Amino acid sequence: MNLRSKIREGKRPFLISGPCSAESEEQMFTIVEGLKNNTSTELIRAGIWKPRTRPNSFEGMGEVALPWLIDAAKAFNLPTAVEIANKQHVEAALKAGVDVLWIGARTTVNPFAVQEIADCLQGVSIPVMIKNPVNPDLELWLGAFERLAQAGITDLTAVHRGFSFYKHPKYRNIPSWEIPIALRERLPEIPLICDPSHISGRRDLLLEVSQKAMDLNFDGLMIETHPNPDEAWSDAKQQITAQGLVELMSQLVLRSSDLPLEDDLLKDLRSKIGILDDRLFDLLSERMRISEQVGNYKREHNMTILQQELWAKMIVNRLEMSQEMNLSEMFVRKFMDAMHQESIRHQTKVMNPNLTKKEE
Ligand code: PEP
Ligand code: MN
Repeated sequence: MNLRSKIREGKRPFLISGPCSAESEEQMFTIVEGLKNNTSTELIRAGIWKPRTRPNSFEGMGEVALPWLIDAAKAFNLPTAVEIANKQHVEAALKAGVDVLWIGARTTVNPFAVQEIADCLQGVSIPVMIKNPVNPDLELWLGAFERLAQAGITDLTAVHRGFSFYKHPKYRNIPSWEIPIALRERLPEIPLICDPSHISGRRDLLLEVSQKAMDLNFDGLMIETHPNPDEAWSDAKQQITAQGLVELMSQLVLRSSDLPLEDDLLKDLRSKIGILDDRLFDLLSERMRISEQVGNYKREHNMTILQQELWAKMIVNRLEMSQEMNLSEMFVRKFMDAMHQESIRHQTKVMNPNLTKKEE
């Protein structure tokens, strides 16, 4: 099967669905039947080996579950996808006739594990989906693509499943959309699928995250489904029924990604944005020139660059203003931090001209 062209040439969004884990033959048949009869699912997923964060939780049924997935999908004429994390998994999945493999977030993070999988796939023709690593490291994600490509695997797809965060109030894994967007810039030929289930961690967020992915022009969605989600042996809170998936898909708004370049209003708005961005950058550049003057002053008076209390006050002021300026606190914080770092770089340059190398 050629997954890449199926995704690219088919109707958007390409839908991948199925349970977090294959639990029994009956569970697999029930969910695949529901998905086939009611949804536009084109690829059935199921976890066979589950990389769990903590020991002593359900770690997947293992090899015995492979025929449950494959027989159920075959009965409804659908291809299958399985997560593999090592050589043994790859060999068992290939032997059983799985159509698509995917590398999970906890595996992408480890170049040794990715290389082991790549070596094992040398000379094999099978599509592979690569989930982002658990940490927001674009290079690590790209590295996994390169390792697979070097092993001759050409049918590659990216899956964005969000990034680990300690006690985030909203997401199980924060989306940091800029990272999949940057991946698409670097690998424009690779289809991009969003996995709202693992980003959300809870079913009431699935629609919001799926809609965002569609508005960012993702090619498809991977959504976990289960005949009885509350009783699921893994990821119970985020799974939905086949009927739940029908409802979710019917609420999604699909907008066109073709830019109507001749539309005057949009052209006008875009040019206004261009002009504002020019002004913003002029202002930033001017601000850094002043920072350098401050650096000169501090050098002459033997003062340190960082004055912590002053900086803390500036941040608090800006955060307080964020609401009335209609900017999120997260954005204000990130912007202020980035501007501060750049300002410190300029000041360091004038304070220690001989110590500062050309570009960090
Ligand atoms: C999964 O898809 O069930 C899974 C374990 O995903 P991730 O690698 O994104 O955690
Ligand atoms: Mn899961």
